[in-house]
Amino acid sequence: MDSEAFRHWSVKAAEWGADYREGLRDRPVRAQTAPGEIAAAIPASPPEEAEAMEAIFADFETTIVPGMTHWQHPRFFAYFPANAAPVSVVAEYLVTAMAAQCMLWQTSPAATELETRVLDWLRQALGLPEGFAGVIQDSASSATLSAVLVMRERALDWTGNGQGLPGQKRLRVYSSDQVHTSIDRAIWVSGIGQENLVRIETEGPSRRMNAKALERAIEADRAAGHLPAGIVACVGGTSVGGTDDVAAVCAVAKRHRLYVHVDAAWAGSAMICPEFRTLWTGIEGADSIVLNPHKWLGAQFDCSTHYVRDPDSLVKTLAIQPEFLKTHGRDGIINYSEWTIPLGRRFRALKLWFLMRAHGLEGLRGMIRNHVAWAQALALRIGAEADFELVSEPMLSLFSFRHCPKDVADLDRHNIDLVNRINDLGRIYLTQTRVDGAVAIRFQAGQFDATEADLAEAFDAILSAARSMPGSA
Ligand code: PLP
Repeated sequence: MDSEAFRHWSVKAAEWGADYREGLRDRPVRAQTAPGEIAAAIPASPPEEAEAMEAIFADFETTIVPGMTHWQHPRFFAYFPANAAPVSVVAEYLVTAMAAQCMLWQTSPAATELETRVLDWLRQALGLPEGFAGVIQDSASSATLSAVLVMRERALDWTGNGQGLPGQKRLRVYSSDQVHTSIDRAIWVSGIGQENLVRIETEGPSRRMNAKALERAIEADRAAGHLPAGIVACVGGTSVGGTDDVAAVCAVAKRHRLYVHVDAAWAGSAMICPEFRTLWTGIEGADSIVLNPHKWLGAQFDCSTHYVRDPDSLVKTLAIQPEFLKTHGRDGIINYSEWTIPLGRRFRALKLWFLMRAHGLEGLRGMIRNHVAWAQALALRIGAEADFELVSEPMLSLFSFRHCPKDVADLDRHNIDLVNRINDLGRIYLTQTRVDGAVAIRFQAGQFDATEADLAEAFDAILSAARSMPGSA
């Protein structure tokens, strides 16, 4: 592709993107294709000869786009959002054009120095104390794995990486059952082993870890000759927003000299609003925190921010310096690849910088406050309908409910069928969870471009789908 063609197709792609965003409300939110349908439309073998860009672009529009689920659709209420404010998409166009690999300071000093600066902006915006240093990870799963590896190394006096785990005491990590499954994966991958992830019982409507039970479990493990390594707390768990009492967890951790990692992947972005910070009171006592600005703040996916109180521990756990990666004569610089598991790094700070400047913290706070207020109003409306029940009260902008018409015997099956029906109709997109063993339908508002009218449409879409279900009349 020569320079003229590159210009032409870049403009075309940007225009396509703008049209796409403008027309999203007219598309079904979830892809409406059957499994295998897209693959069947793509030749099984690669082309030997070059093809015209016109043909490639046309196939993108006719074959690929219909098979996409539209995460930027204003009526996307499933999972948690993976937002991409238009300004962060513009930043990503620029990043893509430069295509720098930003593993070391010297492989793009601006990427490193902007990352340091912009993560400190975000730290201030979140009300985190000075002393927390941030790094951008590709995902919360990577941040949590890194934290678990630090826990492991600290507990083993930095011998785990070298010697491995055989012959060591049995390591123990504690969390509630509300923590995302990325903690399970971190436990397997770190070699600690699933059976050493100790699930602590929860209590109260926030489903927080019982701090006394946590302490008893740690003491019992020590008495049994095991090696408690750390605790993973959550603020805004994925299922229904389960939230630990961070101060209580940190107090236990301090008494037992354990590492605390807080997973606030979704809810963390809301902490730019001072009124929500009571949800993580005591956060200054944590050793590390992960939150995903790509979930709720609006930074184009992927952008996961990982704050640590002691970067040296992270670097001691993850850094590796073969001669070809050394940066001789550059004292005091940061090589962020030493803070992460992958070596190669995309330039992710630019979109956060564009986003925070173009919207200002007040603009971003306004968006989050709207989502919370609209979701809470919707929960009240749904809960007031005689054939619905609210299963979990709103935690910020997340709540769950169940449709329970009196003549339906199997309510779990009925609610799964209802979710499928709603998603097949395509006006909105929702997903389900299980609460105390029973199926519930999750609703979260967090889409960057959502309006109050989109939530009103959600109410209508839910009620009309439910009442047209067999046995629901
Ligand atoms: N933690 C929570 C609370 C989540 O909801 C999720 C994903 O939705 C994760 C962690 C994992 O996030 P990631 O996809 O960035 O690894």
